[in-house]
Amino acid sequence: MTKLSPVIVWFRNDLRLADNPALTAAAESGQPVLGLYILDETPDIRPMGPAALCWLDKSLASLAADLREMGGQLAVRSGVASFVIDELIDRTGVDAVYWNRAYDPVSIARDAKLKAALKARGIGAWSFNASLLNEPWEVRRQDGGDYQVFTSYWRAACSMNSPLAPLPRPRDVAWCKHDLQNDRGPFRALSSLDSDAMSGLDGWCPGEAGARQCLDEFLPARLMGYSAGRDDPGSPSTSCLSPHLHFGEIGPRQIVQSISIAVEAGTVTEEAAQGFVRQLGWRDFNHHILFHRPQVLSRNLRSNFDSFPWRDDPETLDAWKFGRTGYPIVDAGMRELMHTGWMHNRIRMIVGSFLTKHLLIDWRHGEAWFWDRLVDADQANNAGNWQWIAGTGADAAPYFRIFNPALQSARHDPQGRYIRRWVPELDRLPAAALHEPWKAPSQVLAHAGVRLGETYPRPIVEHAFARTRALDAYRSLTSRLQTHEP
Ligand SMILES: Cc1cc2nc3c(=O)[nH]c(=O)nc-3n(C[C@H](O)[C@H](O)[C@H](O)COP(=O)(O)OP(=O)(O)OC[C@H]3O[C@@H](n4cnc5c(N)ncnc54)[C@H](O)[C@@H]3O)c2cc1C
Repeated sequence: MTKLSPVIVWFRNDLRLADNPALTAAAESGQPVLGLYILDETPDIRPMGPAALCWLDKSLASLAADLREMGGQLAVRSGVASFVIDELIDRTGVDAVYWNRAYDPVSIARDAKLKAALKARGIGAWSFNASLLNEPWEVRRQDGGDYQVFTSYWRAACSMNSPLAPLPRPRDVAWCKHDLQNDRGPFRALSSLDSDAMSGLDGWCPGEAGARQCLDEFLPARLMGYSAGRDDPGSPSTSCLSPHLHFGEIGPRQIVQSISIAVEAGTVTEEAAQGFVRQLGWRDFNHHILFHRPQVLSRNLRSNFDSFPWRDDPETLDAWKFGRTGYPIVDAGMRELMHTGWMHNRIRMIVGSFLTKHLLIDWRHGEAWFWDRLVDADQANNAGNWQWIAGTGADAAPYFRIFNPALQSARHDPQGRYIRRWVPELDRLPAAALHEPWKAPSQVLAHAGVRLGETYPRPIVEHAFARTRALDAYRSLTSRLQTHEP
């Protein structure tokens, strides 16, 4: 009998065995399968931030263990993806490469070039959708154009056929037995990371089993309370699935299927299910934008903002990054990010608005910091949301809608549960004083052991002043535009 050539499954943001179309297709080929992960150094690929790298390290360990259990192996390499793949082809005689798609412009260009090169050598190259409910090109306007407004996008997406049912974990896979040493190089730097800053990651469980557990803990009770509780950062009301989804430890089709089963079982209502699945729609929508308007990553989608008078103020930017703005809700969020690699969505909106409007600092600085610090840092979702909150995006919140951090804080964290957790130096303040400690009577502050400017900063900018300054900047932009209009 002739020996079959092996095939590669190139794992990327699809670190799971179930509902992994590339793996299923490779398994169905009947050829020996070799799992590969590459920490890609292709020019212009955006390097992961330390928090995401930490997550990845653990997620790969989990995937490797799952593969070992099935008799397979995961080769982990760093380098330029096409060189790494070429080297493996030469060493092992691989005759096909399978992967699931990515949608950022650099990955698309890399994959297209690689596919052409592999095919030119007579090697198969097959790609699939593992990470979205709908491919970005599948949801189109009647005139064939792409969507820029979420509500219309989602209406169109919902009117299409239901997404395919998720695939089961493949069984009877023929695994490749080549002895391939792993390259730990990419993760060596992790040991030098600030261990305190990354200690909060211990609360997470990266990997396919962790993702499933996260979903199981969310269904059905927390999903039923999602609409009412999702804006309360002090309670575990949202799913916390974002890093699992980003790394593809679970796919959106699997989530939708589990929710549908809960609806059929009567433990979740149709309305609650739709409210949550709509959030997955935002995730798809951001990928739709990224695919059709890749400039979203670095340029204002509303180009009139190109001449916006952003301030260059590194000291203030640092105060924001490290949670020293003097606004408790903002500082709580930035500290949660530093210590856990995650931040509640409502708080992401508040700190994003504060940076771009109160401090008039360019959204790209915020995007870059989030990229570094978030375990769910995701090009489509990060840039899309930053442009939304800054008012520069396609379907953006209008720039003149400026959150008042103290009001947001009082509305969404009335008892200060969230603030007390992350800003413990304010813990003894009564709720009434917690949102704006600078307005509290001195005896209240003294009683709580708070000395403004010493134990906790005074506000780095006054709200009314900041609001007027932001509106003036916006007006100067619009009047300049009118002046330049033909
Ligand atoms: C300034 C800013 C930056 C952000 N950066 C990222 C990022 O880098 N990566 C990221 O995954 N999300 C990002 N988000 C979106 C959102 O904050 C997170 O997805 C959400 O907080 C994750 O928590 P969860 O899993 O508990 O969400 P849930 O509320 O339980 O929602 C379920 C899932 O739906 C998706 N989702 C929910 N809200 C959004 C949204 N607004 N946009 C896109 N997808 C959404 C996520 O995949 C999420 O896991 C950002 C939001 C803002 C305002």
